[in-house]
Amino acid sequence: MLDRADSERLAPNIPALLLVDLDNTLVDRALAFNQWAAGFVRDLGGSAEDAAWLIEADDDGYQARESLAAAINARFETGLGVPALIEVLLYEHVGAMVLDSATAAALDNARNHGWTIGIVTNGTVGQQMLKVKTVGLEKYVDAVVISEAEGVKKPDRGIFHLAAERVGIGLSGGWMVGDHPTADISGGRGAGLATGWVSRGRDWPYGLEPPSLSGRTAAAVINAIVSPTQTG
Ligand SMILES: [Mg+2]
Repeated sequence: MLDRADSERLAPNIPALLLVDLDNTLVDRALAFNQWAAGFVRDLGGSAEDAAWLIEADDDGYQARESLAAAINARFETGLGVPALIEVLLYEHVGAMVLDSATAAALDNARNHGWTIGIVTNGTVGQQMLKVKTVGLEKYVDAVVISEAEGVKKPDRGIFHLAAERVGIGLSGGWMVGDHPTADISGGRGAGLATGWVSRGRDWPYGLEPPSLSGRTAAAVINAIVSPTQTG
């Protein structure tokens, strides 16, 4: 009789659909935004405490840009109206984003093993496509699905179905990889996908149904899906 490790070794995941989140999964949005925020606040004469406030208020990009812009203008003399400040918030940190070599190698490896890869991201078309192009992700993926363009956003299962349609293969046997417990993991599970959580060193939130597997980085998670017998 096989022990569990042997049976896992004999049952690699069959190449299928691999859907992957963008922000804080394929690109380190937090690092880019935090760098930008420090400079932005410094230019306004603000303190390190002000920069920490801005990073907290941004909520990893999940705070609505309109309300964040209004909150910034209530705290600082930016000399910018809310619409202009929204543009600054959407675009100025993107130039600091990079695709790290381990992530690029993991995507390459997945494709070489026969996986079909789609980015599924919540956000605006202008901002998310700028990120994809800035870091050179287009050549690694088969589709980029952005909530604003589709009129549906994660965790709604509709966006995962749209991504599957876009690349022409079904959701069966597919995976969703991302850093957000609800948008990516609960959402992916709701669409019938296996799920890989990019923990970024965090603990899984108490009370939520856990992902199929997890790892600290996108590269670790993707590699574990594509080659389950490899660690990390
Ligand atoms: Mg994310």
